[in-house]
Amino acid sequence: MTLKPILIHPDPRLKKACDPVTEFDKALAALANDMLETMYDAPGIGLAAPQIGVMNRVMVMDCVKEEGGTPAPMTLVNPHVVWESEERNVYEEGCLSIPGQYADVERPKMVRVTWQDIEGKAHEQEFDELWATCVQHEIDHLNGTLFIDYLKPMKRQMITRKMQKLKREQMRE
Ligand SMILES: [Zn+2]
Repeated sequence: MTLKPILIHPDPRLKKACDPVTEFDKALAALANDMLETMYDAPGIGLAAPQIGVMNRVMVMDCVKEEGGTPAPMTLVNPHVVWESEERNVYEEGCLSIPGQYADVERPKMVRVTWQDIEGKAHEQEFDELWATCVQHEIDHLNGTLFIDYLKPMKRQMITRKMQKLKREQMRE
């Protein structure tokens, strides 16, 4: 397993739609392992492949946050939202590609999602609360959408400028 560097916004790879996965091979299993390791190390509760520069429809998540809770790592390949609740929910979201920035985002409170596992087997499950927000946030990444795209332009530009400054500082190090 290898820790991968996480791309920081703005980056053109974070704005592109990713390709569906068609090969369920060893390379896919290795990618999923690397993504989980990178997510836990960050630490974060979700990570999408484009965040490490891989333009395929793969995401990982684990929303168990309690201290000492049993980890529940999930890898979703080619995920699709097939149903969403009318009831909506607001969570303060953050993103490993937009470090240190948080903002309220409103999304459907529950979603039903279909996906394939790393062996290509089909799954379908309903997600609620934080898991629902996380899975929607990560599927957005696979379509080139970031949580700041839901914010007012002024707020989005302010965050983008902060990230540009952060990247300049990191380059000087
Ligand atoms: Zn994110």
